[in-house]
Amino acid sequence: MMKPDLLMMGSYPDGDMEALSSAYRLHKLWELGSDGPAVSIRPLIRAIATRGDLGVDAQTLEILPHLEIIACYGVGVDAIDLDMARARGIRVTNTPEVLNGDVADLAIGLALAAMRRIPTGDAHVRSGAWAKGNPPLTPRLHGKKLGIAGLGRIGSTVARRFSGFDMDIGYFGRSPHEDAPYRFFDDLTALAAWADLLVLTLPGGAATQKIVGKEVLQALGPEGYLVNVSRGTTVDEEALLQALEARTIAGAGLDVFWNEPRIDPRFARLDNVVLQPHLGSATIETRRAMGQLVRDNLTAHFAGLPLLTPVI
Ligand code: NAP
Repeated sequence: MMKPDLLMMGSYPDGDMEALSSAYRLHKLWELGSDGPAVSIRPLIRAIATRGDLGVDAQTLEILPHLEIIACYGVGVDAIDLDMARARGIRVTNTPEVLNGDVADLAIGLALAAMRRIPTGDAHVRSGAWAKGNPPLTPRLHGKKLGIAGLGRIGSTVARRFSGFDMDIGYFGRSPHEDAPYRFFDDLTALAAWADLLVLTLPGGAATQKIVGKEVLQALGPEGYLVNVSRGTTVDEEALLQALEARTIAGAGLDVFWNEPRIDPRFARLDNVVLQPHLGSATIETRRAMGQLVRDNLTAHFAGLPLLTPVI
């Protein structure tokens, strides 16, 4: 049987590339010219494998008349033109659930690193400064008030993880989750004013763009910390940089940014922020599970079976 033609928007780990190449005829966008697939190839392409950070734009969809499915390696599909995909009847899948635990682990790591200033302590030991004295005391994490913006799959896992830190937990979303044993806030600014630590686990996209702006940061206040493991777009980055520089919030732990990977250089000059290069799901085990789920969705599609994790 002929292998279906699959356009890859970006590379996957080696094991996933090998597995995909045994089942599909791969067209690797990064090895093609700026016009993408040749005109003669475009009508052959039936599937796209992309990543959350790369998505699929309208221009790409327009040149692929027989595209049937987009499989996204990642849960966030905000970079995929879902409206156009829906209008064309193109199926879209993502990789939810399998990454919840890792993103939540990183949120804890960032909160501890920012609040207990772990990178500063590490630098203090390495530089030999310890012999001259100890670094300043820091606030504690446990027992504080945790605000979660977006109590979804990842947000709920974050809540469960942080429960072990004896934290009082509140959350913000579009509506209360009746089964959640946490305090609901229908207003993000009110949640920020209540919380000592605000963790963002919202999806990206137009509805949440810059939802954390000057007002929310002011409400979080000079003793408040922000952790963002959602999408860079959820935060007004200029407002955040100003708040960190002026110390109108205490600090932040950030895994996601605008303009990744070329982020605003002002972040690197701040000692009250801990930075990660979008590593929320980046463990060996989870990335394997994500690759498998991408393949399982594609296999199901081409076998005429129900998709495992459909978005549309
Ligand atoms: P999810 O289950 O859909 O949870 C998102 C939650 O956000 C929903 O439960 C929803 O709660 C709330 N929400 C959605 N739109 C909203 C809006 N306009 N205003 C207020 N609240 C809104 O998604 P998930 O699987 O937890 O993933 C969340 C996001 O994490 C992804 O979209 C992705 O961008 C990000 N992520 C980041 C990494 C990383 O490496 N850092 C890895 C994976 C995922 P309500 O229904 O109550 O409003």
